[in-house]
Amino acid sequence: MSRLDTVINQAKRLNPDELKVVSEEILHILKLVNNDSKTTTVVVNSCRRCESKNIVKFGKDKNGKQRYKCSNCGSTFTETSYSVISNTHCDINTWRKYVELLLNGSSLQKCSEECKISVRTAFIWRHKILNALQKDQENRALSGIVEADETFISISYKGNHKNSKNFTMPRAPYRRGTDSRAQTGSRACVMVAHERNGQTYGEVLGKGQPTIAMLSHAFDNRIIPDSIVISDKAIGIKNYFSRFDNIDLIQLMAHVRPKSMSSPPEVKGIYHIQNVNNLHNRFHRFLRGYNGVSTKYLNHYVNLFIWIENYKKIENTNLKTELLSYITSSNTHAKTSDILDLPAIPVVA
Ligand SMILES: [Zn+2]
Repeated sequence: MSRLDTVINQAKRLNPDELKVVSEEILHILKLVNNDSKTTTVVVNSCRRCESKNIVKFGKDKNGKQRYKCSNCGSTFTETSYSVISNTHCDINTWRKYVELLLNGSSLQKCSEECKISVRTAFIWRHKILNALQKDQENRALSGIVEADETFISISYKGNHKNSKNFTMPRAPYRRGTDSRAQTGSRACVMVAHERNGQTYGEVLGKGQPTIAMLSHAFDNRIIPDSIVISDKAIGIKNYFSRFDNIDLIQLMAHVRPKSMSSPPEVKGIYHIQNVNNLHNRFHRFLRGYNGVSTKYLNHYVNLFIWIENYKKIENTNLKTELLSYITSSNTHAKTSDILDLPAIPVVA
């Protein structure tokens, strides 16, 4: 008996309720398959550079891909120009495989083997994708009850070559057994803000406690008027939000018994920062999967973590299809040199 006959025979034995569950599951699978094939051919109806609709077909490129020319800005392009995957010699199926491995947290070694690319290419692809996800956060505004709190990650200078012209090791390497957490102010600050039942923003702001300039970078135009921001008792946050008459700030104690670090955080009715603290915990766990992330690329991992947090909540969203479609969209391209030349510690302000 064929596999298909077996499935059909088993289905005949199900009761109506069970059949309903199975049919919904099949419809869901069908939707994913259809979505997958959709991203293989990108519909081009506007200029990839200036978005003008005045475009005409303009021959084929050397790989046989349709080229277009824009009458507005004069640029010539294909369906993937100005995207993460432009100027690569691999087809969309290799990128599809890569995206799947990336979302599974696979190592560069595994990506290299499965996609038949070098480890260096696997590294560059990873960071081109994660870099592009920054744009997804740029216009993300938060409203209602917004929890905001930062978390700190030890600085790692991994990936900065000691012989590089524009990098000198700023301190002696840590010896094994020394606790880098004790080095107050020498850790990278990751700000996370979360809209109750809604979207999340996260970014590396720089080194040490956030300054007003860093907070401006994070929150100017991000918090919608009439929102309520909840944070711990950080003085910087208080000073920053005191500028706004139309945003309320509620500050809670990080520990109900200030001298006991093990006591729970303060809660005032519906006001607490437990969601954002849970996000911090999940982020630390996520990072551990990468065995020591260089501070130079820390923000890229924040981008990926936040992107997954935001998109996994959307009903009927297939993360692989969503990410593949994102990296083929225009204006997500970055040069390899831009990725390799990032500063050892991100500076936003
Ligand atoms: Zn154009």
